[in-house]
Amino acid sequence: MLIGGERVAAASSQWLESLNPYTGNPWALIPRGAAADVDRAVIAAHTAFRGREWRGLTATARGKILHKLADLIAARADELAAIETTDNGKLILEMRAQLRYLPEWFRYYGGLADKVEGRVIPIDRPGHFNFTLEEPLGVIAAIVPWNSPLMLAAWKMAPALAAGNTFVWKPSEHSSVSALAMAPLFAEAGLPPGVVNIVTGLGSETGETLVGHPNVAKICFTGGDATGALVYQTAAKHIKPVTMELGGKSANIVFADAKLDNAVKGVVSGIFAATGQTCVAGSRALIHRSIHDEFVERFLKIASVARMGNPLEETTQVGPITTQSQYQKVLSYIDIAKQQGAKCVLGGGPAQRPELGGGWFVEPTVFTGVKPDMRIAQEEVFGPVLSVIPFDSDEEALAIANGTIYGLAAGVWTADIGRALKMAHTLEAGTVWVNTYRVSSPLSPFGGYKRSGFGRESGLLSIREFVQEKSVWIETSGADVPNPFIIR
Ligand code: NDP
Repeated sequence: MLIGGERVAAASSQWLESLNPYTGNPWALIPRGAAADVDRAVIAAHTAFRGREWRGLTATARGKILHKLADLIAARADELAAIETTDNGKLILEMRAQLRYLPEWFRYYGGLADKVEGRVIPIDRPGHFNFTLEEPLGVIAAIVPWNSPLMLAAWKMAPALAAGNTFVWKPSEHSSVSALAMAPLFAEAGLPPGVVNIVTGLGSETGETLVGHPNVAKICFTGGDATGALVYQTAAKHIKPVTMELGGKSANIVFADAKLDNAVKGVVSGIFAATGQTCVAGSRALIHRSIHDEFVERFLKIASVARMGNPLEETTQVGPITTQSQYQKVLSYIDIAKQQGAKCVLGGGPAQRPELGGGWFVEPTVFTGVKPDMRIAQEEVFGPVLSVIPFDSDEEALAIANGTIYGLAAGVWTADIGRALKMAHTLEAGTVWVNTYRVSSPLSPFGGYKRSGFGRESGLLSIREFVQEKSVWIETSGADVPNPFIIR
């Protein structure tokens, strides 16, 4: 782990095996951190914060260090991508693209560091000067899931550090290796010891202790909504602010006037890219009834020949499920969908072929005849399972799209700009993509509506999640203090 600038094992000397989802076998050992390690890491971060080694630099100097960090990550992007693919089974092509783009978050927030300005208030109290300071919060705790380990950490770390905070990062026990591989880069970039700390271990052990640590100032959590609720409760006990990036049940809506081949590819990428293990997975395809059958036919033509295999091979299109428990969860949702009367037109079970190693593969699966209130259309599966739902009018499409507890993202496929704008205004989702899907940038805010969470990551304003505003009053007239028993 990385604590106070040193690479350390867990105080208990215990280790956890990290499994390769393609083979199902252990390929790395990670330290099993526990309360003592979390405490050391938070104290190191807190000491670095109090010592002002980081926040005391000029914001411009902090920005330059973040730029250096970006360059170091860029130089190792392919190596880190191969580690992530081996650890979480996502395609090397996807992870390489993700890791090559990831430095942009550090460049964006490195550039923004010295643009966080306070205000001079035109105060209505004569003889007083009033201005604001934008100050960092302290120790930021980041908890991220296994599906995009470094990227989801960077979304939190880059603005947090730019604003002068220090950082303790708990990666998922299923995908900690890339975080540990990145650990030496912080010192190399010039970050003082203790500014970034990494503690690995179990969510219910290391994660929970971190969230409840009294010296943590804020928690940034990405994960499922059930875990999010637990984290939120613990934070509430300590009156700590949180940001929550949670799950989704995103709708990809295809209207009759859409360019059908593009829409088909968009829906394929929405659900089968990353084997459906993305928070923004377009797991519900809402298709106008007039094009429903043609859409399904064209969709199956692509999806039925998707190449499953070793995610480290560039020709593979669908990789394994990351964990055994997730694999079982996906299969159980497939069973539930069948029991509730959805029609399985592709896949529908585990994929077991010699070329698939010993890993956790599920056939890309498509259900038609799905009713909006079926569990498969309401609950997050987090796997390669698509529900196709027909609709007859714009209003019906909207009602179905908005008819879940989630509100993370939505896709709209149409040639009609008026309809696209109407959908953008009325869809209850933190992101709406029109004639595109799954595109993101450090420049654009990302986050959830409804049970998909609150707070925003990326974009200009998200740095505000990491500062607090201080109001400073200065008496300028030199007048005597009036009656001290009356508020001024
Ligand atoms: P979990 O909610 O199970 O875990 C998320 C993180 O929380 C992991 O690091 C986990 O550690 C940790 N954790 C588990 N229990 C606790 C606890 N009691 N206290 C503190 N931390 C804990 O989610 P998954 O890992 O299964 O990830 C999938 C979920 O993440 C999906 O719902 C998905 O939609 C969501 N997600 C949301 C995104 C968004 O931006 N909105 C982006 C990507 C995913 P460990 O793994 O070691 O148990």
